[in-house]
Amino acid sequence: MRFIKIALLVVVLGAILLFAGIQYLLSQPAPEGFPILEYHMVQEANPDKAYEYNVPPAEFEAQLDYLEQQGYTTISIRDYLRAKKGLQQLPDKPVILTFDDGYETNYTELLPILEKRGLKATIFMVGNDIGKENYMSWDQLKDIQHRGVEIGSHTANHLPLTSMSLAEARDEVKLSKLLMEWNGMDTIYTLSYPNGKYDKELLDMLKEEEYLAAVTGDAGLNTFETNPYLLQRINIPHPLFGLTEFKWRLLKGRIMTQLGINQH
Ligand SMILES: [Zn+2]
Repeated sequence: MRFIKIALLVVVLGAILLFAGIQYLLSQPAPEGFPILEYHMVQEANPDKAYEYNVPPAEFEAQLDYLEQQGYTTISIRDYLRAKKGLQQLPDKPVILTFDDGYETNYTELLPILEKRGLKATIFMVGNDIGKENYMSWDQLKDIQHRGVEIGSHTANHLPLTSMSLAEARDEVKLSKLLMEWNGMDTIYTLSYPNGKYDKELLDMLKEEEYLAAVTGDAGLNTFETNPYLLQRINIPHPLFGLTEFKWRLLKGRIMTQLGINQH
């Protein structure tokens, strides 16, 4: 009984300290930088299969409403790279929407929402999954790029690049890029690391293979000083607590940057 009381006290004190710490951080000026959001699929959950990463369309639209209320404007990674070179201006509060893996519902569910609202987005394709069941077909992929969605690579086979030799990792990023370009798509210049796994030597290799930027799964905000091959990204999986969870995830990005945890 006594142990339970002490344990309870520790938990309550811990929660108070955490809350006070977050309140303190939020009372400080917001750090510079803009968020890149990491989605996978906008679709209803499949009852036969627990999709951990699906965001239902109504929840996604509520998130977009919130971003709009907060004054955010969507940009592409290309816009960011051009602005960094002084070739264009960015809006006051940019945000980049990214989608990993290239699911077919990106075409059937996501694209109509983007077009209805005039939003930009970036989709990272797994080269060898294009045209497979539940993934976008070549026709859908070419059409979505033609309609203004930025397409990047998520490698050829979605294996963590740190689990293989550098030569094999080079093949993974090279083949996915060439496969899409040889099939008539515009230049592929961005990469999303499978499972968010990267290491130092991959960054030089990506540059050699003519990639201009890559996104991680490390939460945080981005500025022109951020390493372009280690862009910070805030994960948005299936929400369990609605819009409140979305706001907390955005705050997490801000707080990680404020505390300098795993920032590039
Ligand atoms: Zn993935």
